[in-house]
Amino acid sequence: MTIYDISLTISPHLPIWPGDPKLELEKFESMDHGGHNNVSRMSSSVHIGTHVDAPYHFVNGGITVERLPLEILTGPCYVVQLPDGIEAITAEVLERTEVSSQMKRVLFGTRNSHLWARGESQFQTDFVAITEDGAEWLVERGVQLVGVDYLSVAPYGDSVLTHTVLLKAGVVVVEGLNLSSVMRGFYDLYCLPLKLAGCDGAPARAILIQT
Ligand SMILES: [Zn+2]
Repeated sequence: MTIYDISLTISPHLPIWPGDPKLELEKFESMDHGGHNNVSRMSSSVHIGTHVDAPYHFVNGGITVERLPLEILTGPCYVVQLPDGIEAITAEVLERTEVSSQMKRVLFGTRNSHLWARGESQFQTDFVAITEDGAEWLVERGVQLVGVDYLSVAPYGDSVLTHTVLLKAGVVVVEGLNLSSVMRGFYDLYCLPLKLAGCDGAPARAILIQT
């Protein structure tokens, strides 16, 4: 059995979405400074690093992150690795992949994952994302969980349509995956977002297991 950690390490070096609150991660109590233990505090957007979007992120009245079904967040999963030349995950691109209606959970590896592999800390606007027609293609095939390897499932500057198509259909969206060290193929996914009450998303630890 091999376990692949496809989560980003949360640290101030991670790029964050422009305009979102910055991560603050600091020692509140420190033994180096006479404290009887070490206690850290954090303050952050919930959309940091590897994280899950709940429908409520783009659908007012949609379900919030603590209510997302664990039955969707865990289970058999297919990883697609798209060539570096692919600039957007459109319906046409999807048509040429091996993604089928048998696959309930699909993660897309793209050139974005090279950014994580080399520790890039600057936010990139030209990341590869899913277009509106790509999102519709996935919904039509009954995909229930979609994961991408940059901080948004939608192209930069065009956030609303892709998110809305997926989230309205109840598709769980996982963003900020590092797929740089996994091959295409079938795995078991465990993606567990923090159980934050009433939130539009939450950071998650995501792993793939190959048996
Ligand atoms: Zn998000």
